[in-house]
Amino acid sequence: MAVNITVYGGAGTIGGNKILLEADDTVISFDFGINYHLWSQYFEEYLKPRTARGVVDLFEIGLLPPLKGIYRKDLEPLWENVWDRVISNTKVREIHLDAVLLSHAHLDHSGHISFLDPDIPIVCSPTTAFLVKAIQDSSVSDFEKEVCYATPREEQGRLLASRHWKKYSSIQRQFCFTKPVSFSSKAHDFWRESVGARQMDCKLPKIINKIGNLELRAFPVDHSIYGATAFAVKTSDGWIVYTGDLRMHGETGDKTRQFATEAAKLHPITLLCEGTNISKENNATSEEEVMQNALGRVKDAEGKLVVADFGPRNLERLLTFREIASHCGRKLAILPKDAYLLQSLHLTMPEIPDPITDATLLIYEEVKNVREKWEKDLHTLYQSQSKTVSPEDIRRNEGDFILCLSFWDINELIDIKPSEGGIYIYSSSEAFDEEQRIDVKRLRQWIEHFGLSSVGVPDPETGKPSEAEQGLHSSGHASGPEILELIETINPEVVIPIHTEHPGFFASKLGSVREVRIPKIGVPIKL
Ligand SMILES: [Zn+2]
Repeated sequence: MAVNITVYGGAGTIGGNKILLEADDTVISFDFGINYHLWSQYFEEYLKPRTARGVVDLFEIGLLPPLKGIYRKDLEPLWENVWDRVISNTKVREIHLDAVLLSHAHLDHSGHISFLDPDIPIVCSPTTAFLVKAIQDSSVSDFEKEVCYATPREEQGRLLASRHWKKYSSIQRQFCFTKPVSFSSKAHDFWRESVGARQMDCKLPKIINKIGNLELRAFPVDHSIYGATAFAVKTSDGWIVYTGDLRMHGETGDKTRQFATEAAKLHPITLLCEGTNISKENNATSEEEVMQNALGRVKDAEGKLVVADFGPRNLERLLTFREIASHCGRKLAILPKDAYLLQSLHLTMPEIPDPITDATLLIYEEVKNVREKWEKDLHTLYQSQSKTVSPEDIRRNEGDFILCLSFWDINELIDIKPSEGGIYIYSSSEAFDEEQRIDVKRLRQWIEHFGLSSVGVPDPETGKPSEAEQGLHSSGHASGPEILELIETINPEVVIPIHTEHPGFFASKLGSVREVRIPKIGVPIKL
């Protein structure tokens, strides 16, 4: 029986992975993420796909694959319109999708699950499932981010509107794990609970080892988010392995190596391999090096405020700074959304500190008028335990804190009024595109305005920090030599490069040893 792999996202670009595997009368998708590269060519913060038009805007731009039968039925009133448009320039196929194998909770891998029929099972690690829910719970409601549960909609006139919140519950998707897990009652409550006024039609996760006719294996790997997983699927022609995103230089890099060893034992016919950093020769800065470098900077700023900027939701980096804070006798003040994520993660990974009981963590009280219900609840809880810190508290004892903020929260510093000599540590990725470089310019303006010194902030011209200020960020992806070594170990017959801007690099490095099939969007690769 033929095995077909069709890449609908993640070919020649970083992220937006949507990779269809069809074999033995079974169809699965490896991830179903947002293609931010394409998205940002048309949209920006104030020009977004219109919620009231459902998926019409997304199909117009080609952000969703032309596959009939896999999307939400409550968006159907608009389908006729959609398929008419799509049919005019693409081939529409009708399929039954048996499951999505979700590698991790980054939105470029998970985001457009939002539009899938909620009956389609999502297979992932328990940690990914909890992160997916916590991220949705703590985000501003956005129809492109309904990954864990969907708000039911109906046609009103020519528009789509949310159905009445009192009568219609949110529909939770069916999450599946490959191994049994025993959840505490707190973990159960978290999974069941709705954070808004609308009730949750809850589905408890199931355990599965097979999808349709395909046997399934999951392997934990190291990446810049907890819970990352690689998958292997057994077809009648042999095993197909999917790396998701991975690296070797994080805290759990040995998991990635173990995955390679285990995957090799399956003698896979094909490896779908990520190549974000395939063209980078040097091995990346490790998380441990980030810790040492940042620790030195914090020590130098004794008695002064330290601001740590590592972008939103980078929990591994947050815990790196927690170590540093504890080492320097400081408290780590974090935003409510990070605290929410951390306490949710603690439910599946008890080794992760619970911010409510941890001696180093405090919740920063943002200056805000409107608070969502989850945030109000969180506030009340932490306040009752004296675990909150206000801008005034920080101003009075600057040297006692490391404050975790990103560019998007920088105006909080207006209320803190940091004194001169404080430091802003930028511990996040480079500025890749023009928009990010403009943000970096603004960030530098703010830092200068407050008279802070800074380290690691990218240069708006090059998008990178100066030579002397590097080593404060660790990438989520393995370097070129590491990826090649991984492929050597797994030893597949065929390699399909995905999640990379340099697929040709794979061919030039591996071409003589093994077959490299470079994917094109929507064109099936027959194995
Ligand atoms: Zn990722």
